[in-house]
Amino acid sequence: MNARERAAWKQKLEGMRREALGKKPVRIEPNRKDATDTGVADEDAQALSEMLQAIGSQRNKGQAERIARIDRALQKIEDDPDQFGLCDECGEKIAPKRLELMPDATLCTECQGARDPRRGTTRKKLTDYR
Ligand SMILES: [Zn+2]
Repeated sequence: MNARERAAWKQKLEGMRREALGKKPVRIEPNRKDATDTGVADEDAQALSEMLQAIGSQRNKGQAERIARIDRALQKIEDDPDQFGLCDECGEKIAPKRLELMPDATLCTECQGARDPRRGTTRKKLTDYR
């Protein structure tokens, strides 16, 4: 990869970072704590509020991780320009298609797969609940 290509990736990553930072964190509403109002409807509201909080913090976490990944890629361009576009694990070239989709990728598809072998299969089977 030459310096000009690298500069283009850097620009792209910086744009992604700005975009990720521009998205405000999801506001997390505090739990309703009203001692005088403890009907069934309020229990439902409480459950809903807890669910929304879980979703909100999950989303914020995803956003923070994304920014951290982008920062890591930018740092790599800065510190070790020759390594950008190469897998952190095996040193092989990351497929251009993959880099195109995820400029912040620091692992090739194989190493990512090896690091995350159970990805997508963690969901419990229906039979586990019988
Ligand atoms: Zn690799």
